[in-house]
Amino acid sequence: MLFQASTYSALQAGDYNGETTLKELRAHGDFGLGTFDALDGEMVLLNGTFYQIKSDGNVYLANDSMKSPFADVTSFEVDKQLAFSEASIGTLNYTGLQHYLDQQLPTTNIFYAVKITGECSYLEVRSPPKQVMPYPPLSDALKNQSVFELHNVTGTFVGFFSPQYLSGICVPGWHFHFLNANDTRGGHVLEVTLRRATIQIDEMTTLSVELSQTVTAPLTYPVVTTVAVNGISLFFLPARNQVATS
Ligand SMILES: [Zn+2]
Repeated sequence: MLFQASTYSALQAGDYNGETTLKELRAHGDFGLGTFDALDGEMVLLNGTFYQIKSDGNVYLANDSMKSPFADVTSFEVDKQLAFSEASIGTLNYTGLQHYLDQQLPTTNIFYAVKITGECSYLEVRSPPKQVMPYPPLSDALKNQSVFELHNVTGTFVGFFSPQYLSGICVPGWHFHFLNANDTRGGHVLEVTLRRATIQIDEMTTLSVELSQTVTAPLTYPVVTTVAVNGISLFFLPARNQVATS
């Protein structure tokens, strides 16, 4: 089962109020990713340990009382394992890696957790700076993100795949965070040149979402969305969100 704190739409709208403690998240599994209260860095949950990769590029051990406004967590179980090497099919960039993984999935209509232990000749990761209220939408907050380039690095990718038809509730497609083998560098993955890897895939068909409660103003999806219902296109126009706390 995949447990998710809040929704991607709420995060995109600027709901960065941490509501779920890390202790509560750990009750749902030992593997995950997300962010922290006030969008203060990237989260990696690996083997039951929470890591916070802040916009200064450093990795901090996160304590159980800290809170998250958005996270995906599961008890990782290996359903399928693959070995990939540069010698067999060449290096994979981020697009290539996603295509490679797509080909391993029996269907793109369910969830997957993916753990990749590998060796990269290049890695580009990011982490957003801690935000202050009133919180801007995610697209604005990420304009000030820190981007780090790492070379010849080994470590673990913590990833999730969510179906396109659940975009808004979940982050559609692939979403990876990285932690290096020394637990000293990492972040949200933007680009990679992967040379060798062991890939473990966990299939999930059940989703549990705990909705955000602290933002009392209506949250709206911060992009123009078109939905076709019985052949009729409905347009949802963007609205600037009034994010307020009670
Ligand atoms: Zn991320």
